[in-house]
Amino acid sequence: MKKPEIELSDCIRCGVCVEVCPEVFVMNDVGFIQVEDLDSYPEESVEEAIKNCPSDCIYWNQDEYPKVDHNTETDETNI
Ligand code: SF4
Repeated sequence: MKKPEIELSDCIRCGVCVEVCPEVFVMNDVGFIQVEDLDSYPEESVEEAIKNCPSDCIYWNQDEYPKVDHNTETDETNI
């Protein structure tokens, strides 16, 4: 699943993303923008926020969650 992320060092905290897509972006108590933890993200409104962000600091994180390697068992037979 891809998830929107914010490069906080570039964010100028203008609040545009919160206005455009409040279900995903929220301003926390200390004034930083946070991405809500959702099962899925509304692509269109996130894209809208990306387009309107004056600092270009919203992006999709396409990384898969760390994969669990189920093939780590050794093939040693103990017979
Ligand atoms: S639109 Fe961009 S710069 Fe403005 S608050 Fe959101 S992430 Fe930060």
